[in-house]
Amino acid sequence: MAAERTTVDVLVEHVDWLVTVDGARRVVRDAAVAIDAGRFVAVGKSGDVTAAYEGRATLDGRHAVATPGLVDAHLHSSFQLSRGLADEANAREFLIRRMYPYEAALRAEDVERSARLAAREMLLHGTTCFVDPGNNHPEATVAGVAPTGIRAVVARSAFDLGDSAFGNVPDSMVSTPDSAAKEADALVERHDGTYEGRVRASVSFRGLNNSSDELIRALRDVAATHDVVLQTHACFNYSTHDASVARFGVPEVERLAALGALGPRTLLVHGGWLEPAEVSILREHEASVAAAPSSSMHNGYGNVRMGVLPELLELGVNVALGSDHACSGPVDLVREMFLAACGHKEVRLNPRVMPPETVLEMATVNGAAATGMAEEIGAVEVGKRADLVLFDTDDPSWLPLYNPVSNLVYSATGRTARHVFVGGEHVVADGRLTRVDEDELLADARAGAADLYARIGGDALVRGRWPVS
Ligand SMILES: [Zn+2]
Repeated sequence: MAAERTTVDVLVEHVDWLVTVDGARRVVRDAAVAIDAGRFVAVGKSGDVTAAYEGRATLDGRHAVATPGLVDAHLHSSFQLSRGLADEANAREFLIRRMYPYEAALRAEDVERSARLAAREMLLHGTTCFVDPGNNHPEATVAGVAPTGIRAVVARSAFDLGDSAFGNVPDSMVSTPDSAAKEADALVERHDGTYEGRVRASVSFRGLNNSSDELIRALRDVAATHDVVLQTHACFNYSTHDASVARFGVPEVERLAALGALGPRTLLVHGGWLEPAEVSILREHEASVAAAPSSSMHNGYGNVRMGVLPELLELGVNVALGSDHACSGPVDLVREMFLAACGHKEVRLNPRVMPPETVLEMATVNGAAATGMAEEIGAVEVGKRADLVLFDTDDPSWLPLYNPVSNLVYSATGRTARHVFVGGEHVVADGRLTRVDEDELLADARAGAADLYARIGGDALVRGRWPVS
C-alpha cells in the first residue's frame, strides 16, 4: 500500500529540465519541486517528489526549462519612463544632461508608475528580485513594485557634492551628510522586511565623485547599524576614475577602502575601470560587484573592453549582473547574460572565457549574495524561498534543446519566461501578471509617460535621425 502523501501548497511536476544552481549545480531531467509556506520543501526527480507530495495546486512542467528566479543586482526602477531619452550620449552627457534633469523632474506619482512598469518588465522576463540604487521618492518605489509580487531591495539615494570634476548634479537632488543619514535610517526602519519580507531596504550614495568623505562615512554607519547592503556606482568610465584621482588623489575603490566603506555588504555597481591595486582591494574586502554590460555597451563606457570581470570571477570576487536602466536598452537579465558571455569572448578573442554556467551564476547565486540574501534565494534548493522561473521551450529560441544553459544564455530571451513564482506565489501565469491588471497598468503608464515627456521637453532629448510625420 502506498504511503500517504504530504499535501503542499504547490507541486510543479514533470519539468523537462530543472537547472537548480544548487551547491552541487545539479541539472535534473523530468524534475519536480514541492513548495510549501513559500519555500522549496522537495526538489528532485518527478517520480520521487510526486510519490511523497501532492499539491493543492499543480503545474505541469513539460516543455519547460526551470531555473531559480533571476536576481537583477542593479536596476533604476525610476528610469523606466526614460527609454529613448538618452541615446548616443557619453557618460557625462548621459548623466549630467539627460538623466539627472529627468530624475529631478520626477514626482512621486511618476516614480511609482515607473517602478510598477519596471517590475512588470522584470517579472515577465523571469527576474524575481532586484536591487534599486534609489531616488528621491523611495516610498513611491515601494508603492509601485510591492503590489506586483516582485522582491525588491530599495534605497533613498544621496549626493552631497553638487559640483564635481565629473559634472554637476541638480540642486534639488543634493543633500547634506546629516540629512542623508537620517533619511536612509528612516527608510530602513520603515521598509526593511515589509510585504512578507519581499521588500528589503539598503543604503545608497549614488556616485563617489559627487559624495564627500563625510557623506560616505555617515551612510556607511547607517548600513552597518542595520546590517544592510551599502551600494554605490563606481568605476564605470574613464571619466569617473579620472575625476576621483583629480579631486581625491586616489581612484574610487581605494578611496572607499580608506573610508572604511568596503566590506562583504558593499555592492559596487559597474566596477569596469579598476586599477590592479583596486582588484586586490575588492577581493580582500569581499565586496560584491554588479556588472551591467548593456549600459556599458549602449553608452560606450568600455567596461567590457577595459574591464577585468573574468579575472574578478576567477579570483573569487562575487560579481552579479544588472540591467541598469531602460534608457540603455533591455531590462532583461537573460539578454544581459548573453552580453556578459559574448562581449568578453569578443574583446578577448577567446571563446573560452565566460561560459554560460558562469553568467547564470552571476544572475542567480551571485546576485543573491550581492543582496545579502545568499541563504534565502538564488537556487532551487530545499529550504530556500521558492523563487522559480519556467521558460517555454516551444519557443523557436529553445529548439533544439540539448543543453538548457546554452540555450538560455546564447539563444533565448527573457520573454520566453512563461511561469514565475516568488516565494511560492504564482506571480506570472502563462506570461501574464496575476496580481495586477496589466491593461490598467499599461494605460496608466502610457498616459503618465506622455505627461512626463511634455513636462521635461522630451523632444529636445530624443535623437531620432529620421523625420516623423
Ligand atoms: Zn546605475
